[in-house]
Amino acid sequence: MNNDKLLKSVADNCPEYEAITIAQNYGASILNNLEALEKAKCDLCVNWQDGNCDIFQKHHHKYS
Ligand code: SF4
Repeated sequence: MNNDKLLKSVADNCPEYEAITIAQNYGASILNNLEALEKAKCDLCVNWQDGNCDIFQKHHHKYS
């Protein structure tokens, strides 16, 4: 299972989640950053790398 729900469940519980918008700090407003935090999802994370994130690979089975 590699759907939106799974990506959210993993990101919500991941200590390494870092939203791309925040990491790049490209002038997004604080509101956008807060929204990005609320909507944590692996495919919005700097470590995602098209699903190759080690943490995701090791842990996603717990959430599916
Ligand atoms: S992509 Fe990896 S580091 Fe980022 S939230 Fe998902 S599991 Fe965590």
